[in-house]
Amino acid sequence: MRVLAFLNGNLADPDEPHIRVEDLGLMRGDGVFETVLVADGKARELRPHLDRMARSASMLDLPEPDDAAWQRATQAVIDNWSGSREFALKLVYTRGTDPEGEPTAFALGIEIDPKVLRAREEGVAVVTLERGIDPGLAERAPWLLLGAKSLSYAVNMAAVREAARRGADDVIFTASDLNSVLEGPTSNVIVARGGTLYTPPAGIGILPGTTQAAVFRAAERAGWSTKIEMVRTPDLHSADGVFLASSVRKLTRVHTLDHQPLRDSSAIHAELAQAYEALYA
Ligand code: PLP
Repeated sequence: MRVLAFLNGNLADPDEPHIRVEDLGLMRGDGVFETVLVADGKARELRPHLDRMARSASMLDLPEPDDAAWQRATQAVIDNWSGSREFALKLVYTRGTDPEGEPTAFALGIEIDPKVLRAREEGVAVVTLERGIDPGLAERAPWLLLGAKSLSYAVNMAAVREAARRGADDVIFTASDLNSVLEGPTSNVIVARGGTLYTPPAGIGILPGTTQAAVFRAAERAGWSTKIEMVRTPDLHSADGVFLASSVRKLTRVHTLDHQPLRDSSAIHAELAQAYEALYA
């Protein structure tokens, strides 16, 4: 099941061609995107996703996204979806074929990869991999677009394939000091320790996560404290729980890190997952 909508709210056949081969999103990865979870006909954290898309677009000097048009396209996909109870909604915004011309923009609803659904239940094995950036780089070099959700995800996907070669499911990127935790290729890292949740600050060149923010909100309601501060790799091994958070995977437990089993965090995971779902009940 797939549903495709353009920004005027019109639906289109996803099996038909719609994008020009010269599209700069295709030729250069020059564009931005968002992946939103839709559950029971509701787009979760849509406001933060649209705000982040506007921020990413601004970092790439793309025209400011038309908020009402994106909401219309989102609603058109949701209204015409007849697949599973939960699906992934991709919002894609590229520079189009001509840097001075019209951007390309569409919303596409797709089914969630069964591997992701399984990982939500079973957890994942993760390896740490170098990202080659230091925590001050994002501020010094804004042209590197660290922290923008650009379409240039080839590096992120290559890292996931490297994890598979090393017998793991996913990745936690580390900074050039090898000790500072950044994020996953498509997720944020959350660490639980003694009743507090920790995640690294977005300013070190990672994406500010909508799910991480939602999980922190939910956890605070359930009596946890939350802290945004640097996390070091040894902290991961000694934590009560390590999790990857993103819209479609929700909160996924890391059970193994660099081939070493981590502390069993099933109970913490169940508590946090329940608190997160309660936000949308
Ligand atoms: N970090 C990166 C690099 C991502 O690509 C994503 C989402 O795909 C996230 C973090 C998590 O963001 P969100 O929770 O808003 O989906």
